Amino acid sequence: MAMFNAYKRIFARCGLKAYPVEADTGDIGGKFSHEFHVLAEAGEDGIAFCDACGYAANLEKAERKVAPRNDAACGAIEEVHTPNAKTIDEVSKFMGVPGSAFVKSLVYNVDGKAVMVCVEGDRDVNDVKLKHFLNAKKVELADYEMVLKTSGANAGSVGPVKPADASVRIVCDQGLKGAKGRIVGANKDDYHLKNVDLARDCNVADADYADLVVVRDGDICAKCGKPLVIKRGIEVGHVFKLGTKYTEAFKATYKTDDLKEQTMIMGCYGIGVGRTVQAVIEQSHDKDGIVWPAAVSPFQVVIDLLDPTDPGVAKVAEDLENELEAAGVDVVVDDREERPGVKFKDADLIGFTVRVVVGAKGLAKGGVEVKARRDPKEAMKVVAPAEAAAAIKALLA
Ligand SMILES: [Zn+2]
Repeated sequence: MAMFNAYKRIFARCGLKAYPVEADTGDIGGKFSHEFHVLAEAGEDGIAFCDACGYAANLEKAERKVAPRNDAACGAIEEVHTPNAKTIDEVSKFMGVPGSAFVKSLVYNVDGKAVMVCVEGDRDVNDVKLKHFLNAKKVELADYEMVLKTSGANAGSVGPVKPADASVRIVCDQGLKGAKGRIVGANKDDYHLKNVDLARDCNVADADYADLVVVRDGDICAKCGKPLVIKRGIEVGHVFKLGTKYTEAFKATYKTDDLKEQTMIMGCYGIGVGRTVQAVIEQSHDKDGIVWPAAVSPFQVVIDLLDPTDPGVAKVAEDLENELEAAGVDVVVDDREERPGVKFKDADLIGFTVRVVVGAKGLAKGGVEVKARRDPKEAMKVVAPAEAAAAIKALLA
């Protein structure tokens, strides 16, 4: 918990709106793990959020609840010839019914053994959930031979009704519980079956209905029953509470004050530094360039020296630079012989948190110009050189 809170503070100081999100612990193990995500269109991970109760979880982990179904009874199974239609999309076009009318059936290789996995036709199997549910080391789609041996047909015509291997375990997503009138592969190439009632026609144990799909927008939050929303995020950090998984195995113990042997509790933590920088830029930029928050800006201040050849003006800039550096502020002095417009544009593009303009004209009017990068509409202030450092530090605070 202390680490979790420290991570929240670190990202807040980076100027980031980072969301702690429940995550799968993967191969590292342990029971609790949180990823820290920064929301961004360019994010690599989908995250399910519930605005009502605050639930947030990576799509690998996000759970959903399903309402009990009330499908109308259907007649006897009929075989339909579906030549050259392999995917659900193709068969659904061919038969003129929506994808949700189908049961998608896939043969998985689960630690070397075939398992048939069924989900609603317009849904995707969540391999991570499947792996946990089957308590398996490895799950992957079966190869051609295993599919043929299990089903009796090729991948496009696999289904849960009388597969070639009658003993194959069939597991179904909970959304299919009570499903009737569905279309499934016939376990015979180029054929499908319609009017399938899963409970009536398939050999699925009650305990083999489970949450096995990737959640999507509008699914029901497992915690509170309100709809979930899917957003994209960049993972910038991850905390794992490993507990005693490894320390028990390694017998890593310590003695308490009263000399009792105790197993150590372990955690592991990481921040993606490069990703965090990317995420800062993603969340903190405008049309002119980057807007660095002071805490993570490589250089917080740029001094645009407009008349570098004028010794009096250069001296003011140099004194200010020294004063700021002595106070621990990182400063770049732009003393290139460029037009002011070019210097201002470059300063905006690079994103220095504060821009200071030192020029002969300004000094003649009594000061240097100080301006924060964060708000382009914020007026610059003219301050006397002796007061500039204090004004800059106030903007950086
Ligand atoms: Zn909720």
